[in-house]
Amino acid sequence: MEFNEDDFLQLSGIQHYVFCRRQWALIHIENQWAENERTVDGQFFHKKAHDGLSVEKRGDIIVSRGLYIHSRSLGFSGQCDIVEFHRNDNGVTIHGYDGKWIPYPIEYKRGKKKYTIEDISQVCAQAICLEEMYCCEIKEGAIFYGENRRRQVIEFDDNIRNEVKKIAKEMHDVFSRGYTPKVKYTKKCDMCSLKENCLPELNNKESVESYMKRMVQE
Ligand code: SF4
Repeated sequence: MEFNEDDFLQLSGIQHYVFCRRQWALIHIENQWAENERTVDGQFFHKKAHDGLSVEKRGDIIVSRGLYIHSRSLGFSGQCDIVEFHRNDNGVTIHGYDGKWIPYPIEYKRGKKKYTIEDISQVCAQAICLEEMYCCEIKEGAIFYGENRRRQVIEFDDNIRNEVKKIAKEMHDVFSRGYTPKVKYTKKCDMCSLKENCLPELNNKESVESYMKRMVQE
């Protein structure tokens, strides 16, 4: 199946969806957003990673910041923090540069190296976009963790590719129904910037009346 541009979802939403599908729906279906220390820090870090579109060549690597990408098979569009193009005889030609090149997406994350499925899914979705745009195969990319300045290499095997395709399909299904899923309260909720908007305690089948009573008592 191929999606039209009008139906593209924000690629960066995949990290929200994997973290919590309710969080993603609150942001992308209900347009709710709330800042907390983590989101503000993260946005600042990303702004530094792609402050406008820029391209520079460093030896056998072309570094592109803020490249716009899309995939018709995933139905996603977005912007990459950094795409390096590595010189490779099995790569593709790039307008304005001699030789052949393979794209190598790098997603910047604040914090320490964690290797979470949220981060891995996001960079794999970027790779699938770049493969469709440049008609090539991308075997690996990386996540750069800002706090300890570590680059974690990610291999895009069939398992993660299939998972990303499955998640993208689910996201489109939920979005087309305009439905905000209910999700039970977990420890993740304490790190969530939308906790106040979401009121996850209400999802644990507690009635609104009993929740309000409890809040007044507390
Ligand atoms: S508070 Fe919990 S259930 Fe609600 S959106 Fe955040 S992570 Fe999801």
